[in-house]
Amino acid sequence: MGNFKYITNRPLKDKSGAEKGRIQVLVRANSDRAEGKYTCPECLNQANIDQEWLKPFILVCGKCNAKLKIPKLKDEAKKEKNAEKKILEAEAERKAKEAAAREGLV
Ligand SMILES: [Zn+2]
Repeated sequence: MGNFKYITNRPLKDKSGAEKGRIQVLVRANSDRAEGKYTCPECLNQANIDQEWLKPFILVCGKCNAKLKIPKLKDEAKKEKNAEKKILEAEAERKAKEAAAREGLV
């Protein structure tokens, strides 16, 4: 994540469930502004995003006023946390195995 506290790039579905739009958002670590761009799935309007970063994040299309939400923000945060945990666990296991192998060589 580095200098960003949130970053995403994902498709947006229109009312019928077709992925016609896209949203790209980033929030810098020292900022509460959401920056990025979107393609509205309803009217295909493309525009920049520059608004306050709130959760849930709701973007209103400047052309057709459709409310665009970033899907499954919470679930994803949970998934990312779990993935991170798994990586850390795998790393710890690898180190333990290496240490054991080293001892075996002595
Ligand atoms: Zn629109």
